[in-house]
Amino acid sequence: MVKLAETLVDQLQRPMKDLRISVIDKCNFRCTYCMPKEIFGDDYAFMPKDQLLSFDEIIRLVKVFAQFGVEKIRITGGEPLMRKDLHLLISQIKEIEGIKDIAVTTNAVFLVRQAAKLKEAGLDRVNISLDAIEDDVFKETNGRGIKTAPVLKGIEAARKAGLNIKINMVVKKGMNESQILPMARYFKGTGARLRFIEFMDVGNHNGWKMNEVVSKKEIVEKINAEMPLEPVDPAYFGEVASNYRYIDGEGEIGLISSVTDAFCSSCTRVRLSADGKLFTCLFASDGYDIRKNLRDGASDSQIVETIRSIWIGRKDQYSVDRAAGKPSPKKKIEMSYIGG
Ligand code: SAM
Ligand code: SF4
Ligand code: SF4
Repeated sequence: MVKLAETLVDQLQRPMKDLRISVIDKCNFRCTYCMPKEIFGDDYAFMPKDQLLSFDEIIRLVKVFAQFGVEKIRITGGEPLMRKDLHLLISQIKEIEGIKDIAVTTNAVFLVRQAAKLKEAGLDRVNISLDAIEDDVFKETNGRGIKTAPVLKGIEAARKAGLNIKINMVVKKGMNESQILPMARYFKGTGARLRFIEFMDVGNHNGWKMNEVVSKKEIVEKINAEMPLEPVDPAYFGEVASNYRYIDGEGEIGLISSVTDAFCSSCTRVRLSADGKLFTCLFASDGYDIRKNLRDGASDSQIVETIRSIWIGRKDQYSVDRAAGKPSPKKKIEMSYIGG
């Protein structure tokens, strides 16, 4: 398929550049801020297999998105490495014309077994979630009493496989702000960029409160006091993180400040849930059921038209609205459903 001549922009003049695909809603962790175990218990009804988009369906959609100029694909979940044969999906995405970059966001536990296979299939990067370097804190944040060792082994496996690595740490007051400096010290000089993510009000179950957010400003000040930093210009339009480099040359950190410094004006992301719903914002209430179109026999040109009309109508800027004090939607999709 050839790229369409037009550059599609939404109501706020934002092009569509990145596609985030959730491939599964299940996870081996129960992070308190994402899938609290009190809600996601043993009897929680996850999606039956036949509701998940098949690899063929995902590939068909990625080809259409590539026509619109999407170049970056992020595979997420739930825990994406729990989707059987994920490497087969990666190798097929790699072959699609126009796709320049494929990344996976993962808690890394299954990377020991899969990193080499994923790299061989064409995976470029991994974003690994790790919220603490001390076991006592990490066992609490992941809700499953898992120590840091399996994650650190996963990071090592990714490094050995030659994957580019970023580490994501969600910071929440009362949970793990004690780990900001220990995490910065641990990853400084390793080549893996540590990114601090402000605790967000995604979903309906994580009990989000504004006073539990540790701001980008507080985090930078804390690290800068011990390990001096200077700001780095954004590498490209739509980069989510603001980056800082250590003045001593020992690498960079990133800050994802969805709450205290919204970046909606450059949001070029479109999201696909594991059951094939299309979302134009992380904080949307509902998505468009594109799986229904696929399974009802829609042609490629019908799918192109559907996606075009959804993107053209897009006005989402939830984080800007939140900062302006607008009330949040009554129902929001869960992070484990749509992926980060
Ligand atoms: N299971 C994988 C993982 O944790 O890397 C992928 C899915 S997870 C939903 C994607 C990202 O969302 C992770 O980096 C996670 O820390 C982040 N996340 C989940 N809930 C969040 C919240 N309430 N606020 C900020 N980030 C959150
Ligand atoms: Fe699982 Fe990732 Fe959510 Fe943690 S953040 S519960 S690892 S999906
Ligand atoms: Fe994009 Fe929505 Fe997040 Fe704003 S709130 S950056 S529009 S996903």
